[in-house]
Amino acid sequence: GDTRIRLHQEVLLGHGGKQLLDALAIYPDVFHMNEGHSAFLALERVRRLIHKYDISFDEARHFSAAGNIFTTHTPVPAGIDRFPPEMVQRYFRHYHPLLKLDLEGLLALGREDVFNKNELFSMAVLAVRTSDWANAVSKLHGNVSRSMWQNIWPRVPQDEVPIQHITNGVHARSWLSTDLIYLLDRYLGPRWQANLVDHQVWQAVNEVPDEELWRVHVRRRQRLIVWARHRLCQQLEARGTSAKQAREIADAMDPEALTIGFARRFATYKRGNLMLRDPQRLLKMLTDTQRPIQFLIAGKAHPADSGGKDFIRQLVHFARESDAAHKLVFIENYDIDVARNLVQGCDVWMNTPRRGMEASGTSGMKAALNGVLNCSILDGWWDEAYESDLGWAIGRGENYANLDLADDIESHSLHDLLEKQIVPLFYDRDDHGIPRGWIRKMKASITRLAPVFNTNRMVQEYLEKLYLPALRRARILGKNNLHRSIERAHFVDRLRAAWDHLSIDDVQADTGTEQGVQDDLDVVVTVTLGDLNPDDIRVQIYVGLVDNDGRIAQGRSFDLAHKAVLGDGRHRFIGHIRPQTSGHHGFAVRIVPGGQMVDSTQ
Ligand SMILES: *Cc1c(COP(=O)(O)O)cnc(C)c1O
Repeated sequence: GDTRIRLHQEVLLGHGGKQLLDALAIYPDVFHMNEGHSAFLALERVRRLIHKYDISFDEARHFSAAGNIFTTHTPVPAGIDRFPPEMVQRYFRHYHPLLKLDLEGLLALGREDVFNKNELFSMAVLAVRTSDWANAVSKLHGNVSRSMWQNIWPRVPQDEVPIQHITNGVHARSWLSTDLIYLLDRYLGPRWQANLVDHQVWQAVNEVPDEELWRVHVRRRQRLIVWARHRLCQQLEARGTSAKQAREIADAMDPEALTIGFARRFATYKRGNLMLRDPQRLLKMLTDTQRPIQFLIAGKAHPADSGGKDFIRQLVHFARESDAAHKLVFIENYDIDVARNLVQGCDVWMNTPRRGMEASGTSGMKAALNGVLNCSILDGWWDEAYESDLGWAIGRGENYANLDLADDIESHSLHDLLEKQIVPLFYDRDDHGIPRGWIRKMKASITRLAPVFNTNRMVQEYLEKLYLPALRRARILGKNNLHRSIERAHFVDRLRAAWDHLSIDDVQADTGTEQGVQDDLDVVVTVTLGDLNPDDIRVQIYVGLVDNDGRIAQGRSFDLAHKAVLGDGRHRFIGHIRPQTSGHHGFAVRIVPGGQMVDSTQ
């Protein structure tokens, strides 16, 4: 739909969702907003609090935000819903007074720069500004998100932007092939599914005889090819190919060939056409009769994404025009059923996103769990999962400014991997036809990746890092009719009013001489706090190695101690810096909000 319908949907989801829960008499303490689509929920929560307690927006928001969690999923700006201010005005003109906000106040909640009146109203920004808790979905995506949303926290160092990460996982039982489940039942013991995160339990996969694991895997591939032939016939016949001809093409698929799966949304950043960048080289591999390979490709493009649709066209065209029609098969209507067949029956799972654009990439986890080996750009989950003995990395985690150059280098690297490592390892068989090296990698992939990239680990992490801390904070701020939430709003007002009058007047430290690692460097700082008390704020040192641009990269911070009241609102703070490593260090002094009001609910 268009933006207007999108807004309708999100009102229905956010406002309607909250009303539905209330109608069902379900009153959660913690709300988890998965992506920005549901962010109107946060407004609706505040509206109800204002109505119930007769308080201001800010007085209600601290409590509400304490129990809101926002998970960001997309590093692609086009994937984030944004609405023109006029549209928000039109739909919310009767609503913002209920929030005790003027229109400007409402619009500012959806802007990265609150003062920029031309900015579109972003649902993700709204979610960030109304949630105390935010997370990305892989370690690398955490870095990407902190950089992407840094504008919301101006002047805060990037690694302190309060977005943590919890890497996605997949539901093992739903994605493991039945054949493999039977095998695991036998070797891991009947209770393995109750101990999914236990590395020790998964170690037993190493005791499965190679022959047995291979037999199971080959059977899965054969079943996949039978299924793919059937789908392909249907597709071809639907396009007017005769039944006989369709059968011939489909039958040419090889149940014994090295089978590479590639299934994902055809967003341009996923570069579904990367392998076509050197068509001759690809064709040579596809037409090799000694060591045959074949690709099974699936995926849909967003209707509005002409680039993504074009990738699909290129692939289909390439397959049709070359001698490789049956070697590069496009399965239509990618859905969970298609995904399940592919991630259980392929030999290799390929992923070629532009680095930094794949937030997580869960299909690779589904494959890994099944002993299907990943070959991917070091992006999303693979950046933290990859080790050389359990799969392949395309490139070494480089980021390129020149995208065309990146495509060249990475397609070259992909072809190299296929020709020099993947194909040879797959066809390196012993006297019994068993690829020992390949199976070693399969076992490494299952034993080391399955216990980590599953939903049991993921949900446990959400519980420990987000749900329980959010619950604790919401309970504290919610007690006695939101007493602490209201207090906190007033405290923030007081800080805000005083902030422009703060100054760091003097910093004394003997930086002229060389400093030994683990030696203390004394620092004495004089600040003017005006009307604020020393325990309303913290005076901090931010220290770390200085990079080539003269910036402190990945610094750490610590508080200085209040030493003396100097009069006229001036105070002395002291502390010492103790470098942990050698090298050129720098430090900065800063003042941040502090005090009991902040600390007690951290
Ligand atoms: C797992 C899955 C996805 C997500 O996979 P990515 O690796 O993130 O692209 C998308 N669609 C379907 C049908 C899936 O099963």
